[in-house]
Amino acid sequence: MEFIDLRSDTVTMPTREMREAMYKAEVGDDVYGEDPTINKLEEMAADMMGKEAAMFVTSGTQGNQVCVMTHTRPGEEIILEEKCHIITYEVGGLGYLSGVQARLIKGKHGAMNPEDIEAAIREDDIHQPSTSLICVENTHNRAGGTVIPMDVLQKTHEVAQRHGIPVHMDGARIFNAATYLNVPAKEIAKYADSVMFCLSKGLCAPVGSIVAGSKEFISRARKFRKMMGGGLRQAGFLAAAGIVALQKMTKRLQEDHDNARLLAEGLNTIPGIKIDMDTVQTNIVICDIGGIGIDGNEFARRLHGYGIKINGGYGASVRFVTHYGIEKQDVEKTIEAVELIAK
Ligand SMILES: *Cc1c(COP(=O)(O)O)cnc(C)c1O
Repeated sequence: MEFIDLRSDTVTMPTREMREAMYKAEVGDDVYGEDPTINKLEEMAADMMGKEAAMFVTSGTQGNQVCVMTHTRPGEEIILEEKCHIITYEVGGLGYLSGVQARLIKGKHGAMNPEDIEAAIREDDIHQPSTSLICVENTHNRAGGTVIPMDVLQKTHEVAQRHGIPVHMDGARIFNAATYLNVPAKEIAKYADSVMFCLSKGLCAPVGSIVAGSKEFISRARKFRKMMGGGLRQAGFLAAAGIVALQKMTKRLQEDHDNARLLAEGLNTIPGIKIDMDTVQTNIVICDIGGIGIDGNEFARRLHGYGIKINGGYGASVRFVTHYGIEKQDVEKTIEAVELIAK
């Protein structure tokens, strides 16, 4: 049975063009800086982010953690949104790997208010930790793939600059944000000193993420990546798919957004199901199923019986993610299955 897999955009498979590019890739030892395909990917990625340099990392988690390590020293404090990926899904790496403490701020649709950020920055006081980094997530996963409004991003950057604190952007899905705002990704990345994005989610590459920033930042980050076991050798095979991801797959995300909207609109008409349509901006739909009297895990189990996979485990809310390979008819089938479950 072929499942409609709406668990995540990480389930996307490499395209035929990626597989061909991987087969033919010219490679070398990247720890010596000698892999031409990695070098090409890193140059392209830096250019698309409007940064001086970029570095391939094995995962988004490794990218975020390496960036925090590079920006901070143990004993410092960093500001993050309370439901962000770094806090929720990175296995407590902040404390374990960087030895920093987290100051959490509640955001609106995942976006922290710049005034709240400014108020959370520590004073110069012998008792207090120094605030050494502000992390933003764009699009925001747990908030439903929501995009940080440009003016909020700009004000956040202004606050950071005023206090001499860098901004790191967890832009795992920055190209979804760019598609939503209809701007080049670099227009978003310019409000951050470092940015991480994933090649392996909606962009369909099999493995890998990118970290971009200044030359000086990336050269220090390379050392931390090596420390974390991320110094790869003939990684050009992976980079070859990443290059196709950047050239081709960044341009088709509107299709995923259209499918997510169609799905949300359909689900929202079903009694017992509630979706905050303001949060349906990109390829993620979070919906409250509290009104149909079963929890998310049970809901996911029943959908599985109709050949549809989603992630339960968020209490009374469930998440659907659209991506390459999900077509309009899959969305229609999903809506029909949920109608049957909700009856
Ligand atoms: C998926 C994701 C990551 C981490 O990526 P992995 O490659 O799964 O480690 C980081 N941040 C956000 C917002 C994500 O959605």
